[in-house]
Amino acid sequence: AKERGKGDYQLYFPSLKTHHTEKLLIETRLREALGGNSFTLSYQPQIDLKSKQVVGVEALIRWEDNVLGKISPVEFIPVAEETGLIVQIGDWVLQEACHQAKIWYDQGFHLRIGVNISPIQFQRPDFVEKVNGILQKTGLPPKYLDLEITENDLLYNRDECYKTLKRLKESGIKISIDDFGTGYSSLSYLRRFPIDTLKIDKSFIKEVIQNINDQAIVTSIIQLAHNMNMRVIAEGVETSDMVAFLNDRECDEMQGFLYSMPLKKEDVIPFINKTEPQ
Ligand code: C2E
Ligand code: CA
Ligand code: CA
Ligand code: CA
Repeated sequence: AKERGKGDYQLYFPSLKTHHTEKLLIETRLREALGGNSFTLSYQPQIDLKSKQVVGVEALIRWEDNVLGKISPVEFIPVAEETGLIVQIGDWVLQEACHQAKIWYDQGFHLRIGVNISPIQFQRPDFVEKVNGILQKTGLPPKYLDLEITENDLLYNRDECYKTLKRLKESGIKISIDDFGTGYSSLSYLRRFPIDTLKIDKSFIKEVIQNINDQAIVTSIIQLAHNMNMRVIAEGVETSDMVAFLNDRECDEMQGFLYSMPLKKEDVIPFINKTEPQ
């Protein structure tokens, strides 16, 4: 595997497009992984800008395969989606994330847990039952589960999407739009769909200090969200200048390397105790 400058990963395949044989290899190893324990979740803190408290964490899957080494979700999630393996992987992620959040909850840390949902999972007819089943089994109160979907996932079968979102909402589960502003969707769905939070994509935050167009976009997303009674989370916050900018625009929450990398589960509570001394 090659060492590449991307967080804690080695990208196994240097090319941008994963080729057929490489996909096959990933698929074979993914099937194997589903029977074992080479997946883990990392948790990235989400910080309330006003109180500076950790109010949530986003669960991010990690895979260290015996043969392939560490592989980024950017590489293996698309393969998992193409092969349908994402359904089983997604079930595991939901179950593990809710289980962990309940452990923290019982320790007195009432953290909201963000879970990335693939459109393939979301569009399955049994999705809502599955989520409710996991909540029941783990005992996590539903309002602490925050499902992250993207705008593109809502493009097709709008009526079905609406029904699914409404049922999730009725169960007390939170819905976030991930990577907001990068999709192909028009804004009209926002009027109709029960969405709690917009997550501003990190590509708009990256150069927000230098680029006045990005400033306009970020400011507008925050206003749009607030006018529609939604919360806003900025992703990819890497500098204190960005925090100052977001604070000034009254963004609700932030997430990014400045505050914390995604953490192993055992490092989450020590991190909170360190940053928020009682
Ligand atoms: P995402 O949902 O947009 O997740 C945010 C990504 O940004 C994460 O990458 C995170 O590590 C990274 N990040 C966090 N802070 C910063 C920062 O300050 N700067 C920069 N440049 N990046 C930052 P990661 O963990 O590699 O995940 C990549 C993507 O893989 C995720 O993007 C998501 O689309 C997908 N993914 C991850 N876990 C899951 C999962 O359990 N299920 C599904 N379906 N997709 C997942
Ligand atoms: Ca996400
Ligand atoms: Ca995403
Ligand atoms: Ca995102």
